[in-house]
Amino acid sequence: MIETGKQGDHSKLPMQGIAQPTREEVLKLPRVHISSHPVMAHKITMLRDKNTGTAQFYQLVKEIGALLAYEATSSLALETSIIETPLQATTGYKLAGGIGITPILRAGLGLAEGFREVIPDAQVWHLGLRRDERTLQALEYYNQLPHHVDLQVCYAIDPMLATGGSAIDAINILKQRNIPRLSYMGIIAAPYGLLRLSQAHPDIDIYVAVLDDALNDLGYIVPGLGDAGDRQFGTL
Ligand code: URA
Repeated sequence: MIETGKQGDHSKLPMQGIAQPTREEVLKLPRVHISSHPVMAHKITMLRDKNTGTAQFYQLVKEIGALLAYEATSSLALETSIIETPLQATTGYKLAGGIGITPILRAGLGLAEGFREVIPDAQVWHLGLRRDERTLQALEYYNQLPHHVDLQVCYAIDPMLATGGSAIDAINILKQRNIPRLSYMGIIAAPYGLLRLSQAHPDIDIYVAVLDDALNDLGYIVPGLGDAGDRQFGTL
């Protein structure tokens, strides 16, 4: 196990002096899926560009959300379904049980919209987690998760897997709902956040578009794309 350090001393920058794993170390982790699709790489480059404005940025996040949804749903369970074509009866398939997505507010909203382009009847459970800029701890401020659920899987959705705090907390909250399978879906991961999420929840699949180099002292992913919420909603 790789030691990722602790966040205790609040007098310095939140990630200053904290050891981080390398990309190579986390690439070996089980249940981590990093996209290798060329269209994804193309769109991520446009997304990162500081000259990409708010409208195009939000549109790209939705498109990336649809591409990621396609990859992240590739092993979902099916059940048979007998239907009639205009010519004859045939046995087809449909997804077994409901699909849920939990966008972490507010940065997860664009990705969730993209996911719904692929699975329009996915249930959307909004979860408000905000990170304390000083401690980088996630604080829950909004929770609209239903108590009675009948899903085969639920995806926690947040574009930036930085320290992993929000993703770990979101999965902890979802685990209280007895959903048979949980996954995380995001755009950019830092090795540090990926390792922490994988160690905290080794039973989930983690789907990201790209693995970046590291977190800077402030806890931003580098090279990254800046603040994913601000860039989607024009609050720069
Ligand atoms: N959240 C963001 O929006 N960007 C980062 O780089 C890290 C966390």
